[in-house]
Amino acid sequence: MPAPGETPRIRPVDREKMAEGIRLFLEGCGVDLADPNVRETPGRVALAWADEFLDGYEKNAREVLGDFYEERKPAADEMVLVTHIDFQSMCPHHLLPYRGVAHVAYLPAGRIVGFSRLARLVDLFAHRLILQETLAREVAEAIRSELGSAGAAVLLEAEQTCMTVRGERRSQARAITEAFSGDFAERADLRERFVRRIGVAR
Ligand code: ZN
Repeated sequence: MPAPGETPRIRPVDREKMAEGIRLFLEGCGVDLADPNVRETPGRVALAWADEFLDGYEKNAREVLGDFYEERKPAADEMVLVTHIDFQSMCPHHLLPYRGVAHVAYLPAGRIVGFSRLARLVDLFAHRLILQETLAREVAEAIRSELGSAGAAVLLEAEQTCMTVRGERRSQARAITEAFSGDFAERADLRERFVRRIGVAR
């Protein structure tokens, strides 16, 4: 079951219905649907949403993380950290994009995955209708449960266009959300190290 901040998909994608919705929307905007600029727009929008923005519903964390590599159990709290993974997602409240970078860390307990798999894991959840707060949480929980790691930490820095291009229009505002699981949730020293490492990577 997805977390409350992630809108579940309960039926298959219907591109025709999506396009019809966009046609209705444009009609509601009062614009001329026969105009060459917008004639193909409903189909184009449906395609982009189905294939690019919401394609994260098609897979699960297991498939995305792929094969594990067995590694010796670390003697100390040795962190694996990938910083500045760029991502984009859609706000379920306004259907406007938010985009930024993700910093992802975990404490391996015998199982590791390729670094780029962590980036794909971010995309898996980002390409759904999901709140930024929930996105951080889902990525951290998936790493912990799939890799059996002792802990995972995720920090997201993003421009929420809901806030920068509409509403308040605070163009410089950035939203930071984080999620800590396992040892990261229990130990302040690990959280501090994680944040310090991100700083070093800048
Ligand atoms: Zn919004």
